Amino acid sequence: MKLVFERSIQGTGSTLLPPNDVEAYDLQEPYQRKLALHFPELTEGELSRHYSELESNAFGVNRGFYPLGSCTMKYSPKLNEECAALPGFADIHPLQPAHTVQGCMEAMALAEKLLCEITGMDNLTFQPAAGAHGEFTGLQLIKKYHDSRGDSKRVELIVPDTAHGTNPASASMGAFKTVAIPSKADGLVDLDALKAVVGENTAGLMLTNPSTLGLFEKDIVEIAKTVHEAGGLLYYDGANLNPVMGVVRPGDTGFDIVHLNLHKTFSTPHGGGGPGAGPVGCKAYLSEFLPLPRIVEEQGSLRFCSDSENSIGRVKAFYGHFLVIIKALAYILTLGKEGIPYAAQNAVLNANYMMKSLEDLYTVAYPGRCMHEFVLSAESLKKRTGVSAMDVAKALMDHGMHPPTVYFPLNVHEALMVEPTETESKPTIDAAVKVYREIYDLAFTNPALLHEAPVKAAIRRPDEVRAARTLVLRHSFSS
Ligand SMILES: *Cc1c(COP(=O)(O)O)cnc(C)c1O
Repeated sequence: MKLVFERSIQGTGSTLLPPNDVEAYDLQEPYQRKLALHFPELTEGELSRHYSELESNAFGVNRGFYPLGSCTMKYSPKLNEECAALPGFADIHPLQPAHTVQGCMEAMALAEKLLCEITGMDNLTFQPAAGAHGEFTGLQLIKKYHDSRGDSKRVELIVPDTAHGTNPASASMGAFKTVAIPSKADGLVDLDALKAVVGENTAGLMLTNPSTLGLFEKDIVEIAKTVHEAGGLLYYDGANLNPVMGVVRPGDTGFDIVHLNLHKTFSTPHGGGGPGAGPVGCKAYLSEFLPLPRIVEEQGSLRFCSDSENSIGRVKAFYGHFLVIIKALAYILTLGKEGIPYAAQNAVLNANYMMKSLEDLYTVAYPGRCMHEFVLSAESLKKRTGVSAMDVAKALMDHGMHPPTVYFPLNVHEALMVEPTETESKPTIDAAVKVYREIYDLAFTNPALLHEAPVKAAIRRPDEVRAARTLVLRHSFSS
């Protein structure tokens, strides 16, 4: 499709701008613009067509099945969007005096309380903007804790080899040294390998449970004990809370700090560039280190408190992405104590159903029971037919569904990581299974067709490395 600049026709644009109510200011010579501004000029109709075309070329959960593993692309109820759009929530200003926004502060305080209850934590900050930002924040808490005890040699963070890439990246941003531990043949953390690396340099362990292989770390209590006895803390990457919410509380299994991805588990649509939120919860003994300000109650009213000497400081302007918090609160209150574990159990049921329906054809990387996602390996398919995980993924696009996550986790060759989510019905999953099976058969009868896929998508096989490394961020007007 054409870029908005290529669609532009000079003279068709609108100049219906409100009069300038800001005082004009004469910029000094070095800061003055040398070339004329190039705004695209389109009629309203053309502009509307431009956005509709963009929309029709984009795939989202509103369009079809989207089983992208490790991302929880589930359907988020529209009701929660409506709640967040209520004028009392949407039309406030972050600098408004606290006594004029008591209702909003109450909503935040309640959301904090409920998320603490779900995770088994004592206090929580809403400041971090997403999961990776939460990781950074949580690791600062770990650092501050050790520093506060004069324990400055604890610089090592242990991370399993199945971890999401943001874990070692956050460790490195926090000036920690990442110590990777391999997983066992069954995909779980290798306790012996863990015991061999913990010690006086251990700052903590970052763990995702269930892991990115879709497996529950059943030895978690023993893992926690090992790390705690060595003087380290346990950080819970909550990106995979979806299948255990309301069933298992990370805090009860030994974790000291958690982050949640409200845009994965708690009803904010994931992707599309909209804001998410990565709140961080911790046990009471770490609360003094949380970012400021914190909401406190005083004489029956709520206020923001900014005095704590030991806080790690701010990690974001204001109090986080407020409307994302409202959506999470609406979701939790709608589902309630029974609905939340029911959603979790359905995520697990759907994943196991789909895995079982495919295991006679595709290789299940870790056979047995899975949690909310499962990992297939196309390694043997590739050896026998030349058809790779990427070919399978691209072929799925031609069938109106989003591919699963591919080539992750890194320890599974030709990985296809599928997360159907709890919001999909049996007929949808059955239809997807049928397509996965047809593609498998096609790999043996006509592999060339699969190497060509996708044939129906707007963009076929972009060079993903080049697309990421040589970003084109501006339009070249000269050409
Ligand atoms: C998505 C994800 C993250 C990072 O979260 P963002 O919100 O995308 O920053 C971290 N760990 C795991 C396991 C994830 O799936």
